[in-house]
Amino acid sequence: MSTRVYQLPVLQAKGASFGVNKIICIGRNYAEHAREMGHDPEREPPFFFFKPQSALAQNHRDFIYPHFSQQVEHELELVIAIGKSGAQIAAADAADYVFGVAVGLDMTCRDRQKEAKQLGRPWELAKGFDGSAPCTAILPITFSELSQFGDLVLTRNGKEVQRGNWRSMVWSVPELIVEVSRYIKLDAGDLIFTGTPAGVGPVQPGDELVARLEGFPEELRLRVVAAQA
Ligand code: MN
Repeated sequence: MSTRVYQLPVLQAKGASFGVNKIICIGRNYAEHAREMGHDPEREPPFFFFKPQSALAQNHRDFIYPHFSQQVEHELELVIAIGKSGAQIAAADAADYVFGVAVGLDMTCRDRQKEAKQLGRPWELAKGFDGSAPCTAILPITFSELSQFGDLVLTRNGKEVQRGNWRSMVWSVPELIVEVSRYIKLDAGDLIFTGTPAGVGPVQPGDELVARLEGFPEELRLRVVAAQA
């Protein structure tokens, strides 16, 4: 499909892969999470930020705890893979841009993010570091087929720490496609991390994280390891 360096396997399509382009992450898309972060969950327009391709990590890779943070947190997210390019996408067409879905984690250095907010600096260090976007393989589906899936669930060392349902996103998948494409062109290969439900929390070296979407054929599994000294 492409010769891009950063690729994700495509489920049910033997040998196929999805060449990743931009990684777009949506902020505060679940009311309970907005509240836990100290914000009013009123339906403000969605905002987004980017992670570089080098943030992508395929399933079953170790997550290396970044040496420049003391507070790395998990954010469990539904990931939408974009299948074709478009700008200023109309609401009636938005669902056609979905190539498939995956389960991902928006790993976040919360201490560096708080610092960036206080200093008015960008979030790249907090959000875009190497390996900060672990993601399963992509299951090709149409938007309407998303209805087969249930809750997003994350366990840390076997204990459930996050659970939410993509149906309670403040902005739906087609709405996100419309809103993001008002400002930036979407391209085939883009991934949209659609925001996290409530329950974000810390990870430590030695942790085992398992993220799943009920009904989705693959779990996202990773082990947190300390950075090499
Ligand atoms: Mn997030």
